[in-house]
Formats: sequence, structure tokens, C-alpha cells
Amino acid sequence: MDTFTDLRHELHRHPELSGAESQTANRIAVFLRRLDPDQLIEGLGGRGLACVFAGTSPGPTVLLRCELDALPIAELGEHAHRSTTAGVGHQCGHDGHMAILAAVAQQLSAKRPARGRVVLLYQPAEETGEGAAAVIADPRFTELRPDYCFALHNVPGYPLGEVLLREGPFSCASRGMSITLTGNTAHAAQPETGTSPAQAMCRIIASLGELPAHIAEPEQITFATVVGAQLGAKAFGTAPGQAQIWVTLRSEDNDAMARLIAHAEALVRLNAQADGLQHAIDYQDIFPATINAPEASAMVRAAAASMSLREMAQPFRWSEDFGHFTASCPGALFGIGAGVAMPDLHNPDYDFPDALIPIASGLFLRIVGEALG
Ligand SMILES: [Zn+2]
Ligand SMILES: [Zn+2]
Repeated sequence: MDTFTDLRHELHRHPELSGAESQTANRIAVFLRRLDPDQLIEGLGGRGLACVFAGTSPGPTVLLRCELDALPIAELGEHAHRSTTAGVGHQCGHDGHMAILAAVAQQLSAKRPARGRVVLLYQPAEETGEGAAAVIADPRFTELRPDYCFALHNVPGYPLGEVLLREGPFSCASRGMSITLTGNTAHAAQPETGTSPAQAMCRIIASLGELPAHIAEPEQITFATVVGAQLGAKAFGTAPGQAQIWVTLRSEDNDAMARLIAHAEALVRLNAQADGLQHAIDYQDIFPATINAPEASAMVRAAAASMSLREMAQPFRWSEDFGHFTASCPGALFGIGAGVAMPDLHNPDYDFPDALIPIASGLFLRIVGEALG
């Protein structure tokens, strides 16, 4: 086993949840410091790290991003590097992404870019959709602002090392919508003296599944998934006075997301008003769509010339907070196949394939070559 496989296994053994990645960040900082980077900024947007390798002459700044966080998933697996933290695991493969950038760092340390600079960003809190925005909002990020940004995600179900690319929308915008309907409780023997949200709740749940056609083109991904709901309580003497509905809104571009939000909010308002209910709406886990720029996509294509490359017909339905970066500078997020016969991401038995580390780090270095000339 090599250094980077060892590093991934160590990270995998000690996963940490979004926003609490202090040990992970320390391990990475110890590793990177040995490579003598030109700058190492810690605590960026929370637990984030930025490691800078600069060329001798001026030129563009290229940012490569990976993620520090793991998931609240109990790992199933018997391998020697399984998680030692109960209920927490690296089932999105972010341990692998970190090892890939560590391998890139070692190459850049041995051979700095001729011009410009490379920023290797270890971003916190990707899974909650908070980390990218927090890094960008950190005043110390101003000085690191890239001209191009790139990130990859391992994708099981595709051949190992196959590059998955799409110009334009690559992964969907999504957001969690919490709806509260408030009426008045009543004695269950006299429900007519109260205001129950039960009927409005049922209509809203049913309607959210049947969105009007004008929100998106027929072939475009735009939909809402009701993920949970609660009405009253198990109290047989009381008719309910409150209901909650939790919905995930999803769309392949930010304009369609804006229309979806407006539609969903109007639906809630009209149904609440019709039954004399108060309503409140709030949002969390907000991810913009990740939109790949043509010039950045072209760089990935050129860097992957000797590899198998699949141009994706449709964006991925999942969301990635890298969309905050592609919204502020030309960039591309691409997938890299993790093997056909692999468990899916976020499954309890998922484990990043180590064979991807040299494949992906080589690709990233060639992308840097394309961007910095
Ligand atoms: Zn994930
Ligand atoms: Zn992920």
C-alpha cells in the first residue's frame, strides 16, 4: 500500500460529521505541512483548509476542491479500515477525494506550476450544503479567489476511472422545505369546534406530486418529494391543531427552482387560507445547481483525452454545494466512475476504491496543466 491509500484508510477510520471535521482537518494539515506549500490557511469557513502552490511567474489561479465531511451512517463492512466512530462513516467517498488532492499536493510540491498558482481546497460541511458558501464568505478567501475551479465526485455504477462530464447543468439544485399549518385543537368528540389542518395537509401532499407543466420542459428534471409529515399526536381525545410537511424540491437549473418554489409556496398559501389555517414555511439544506462552464468543460475533456469519457445526456439528480463555486467563476464538476458492481453512495457498505487515487490525481494534474498552459 502507498502513502495515499494509507492516508485514505486513516481518514476512513476516523470519520467526522459536517461542521465538526477538526481531527480530519488536523490530519490533512499535518500531511500538507510536510510538503512545504507556499501557503496553508486553516479554519477557512469553519474547519476548511486551503493549500497553495505558486508558480514563479504570474498567471491564473486554479482551485481544486475536495470535502472533509462524513455521514451519519453506521458502516457495514468488515475491512480493516472500517469506521471506529459509531454511527458515522465515509459513505460518500470524501476520504478518497481528500487522498486524491493529497497526491496532487505531493506532485505540485515536487514540481511547482510554471506560472499562476494552484489552490487545493479541503472544504467542510458539503453534505449539509453549508460549507462552500461559508468558505466563499470567509474574508480570507478573497485573496484566494480562483479564475477556474474544478471538483470531482466518485460515482459507483460506472466503470472504474471513466470520466463523466456534462457542459451546463451537471447536478441539480435542491432544498428542504418545512411547512407548518396551524389551526386550533378541539375535543375529539366535537371536532367541529376546532380547525384541523388534516384536509389541507392531504391536499398539499397530493398536489405537490402533480406539478403543473409550465414549471419546466417535459424532459427537464423538476419535481418535489414529500419526505415526511406529522399531524397532531397520538392523543385520542384531541382533534389536531397543527401539521407539518417536509418536502425536498429539486430542479436541474436555478430558474426552474425559482418557479418551483413560487408554485409550492402558492399551493401552501391557498390551501391554508381555504381552511382558515395559519401557515409558515422555512428552508434548509439549500444547494444551487452546479453549472459547468464551456471553457472549463473543454479543459476537462482535453485532460481526459487518453481516458474513457462519457458525455452525460442528463444532469445527475443529486445536489452538490460546488454550485456556489461555479456560480462565482468558470468551473466544472465531473464524475469519475467508481466501478460497476459497487454499492451506491450513502449505502452503509460503500467504500471508496483506492485504485481511483492515482487515476484521479493524474487527471487533476493534467487539468491544472490545461488551465495554466
Ligand atoms: Zn454525499
Ligand atoms: Zn459527496
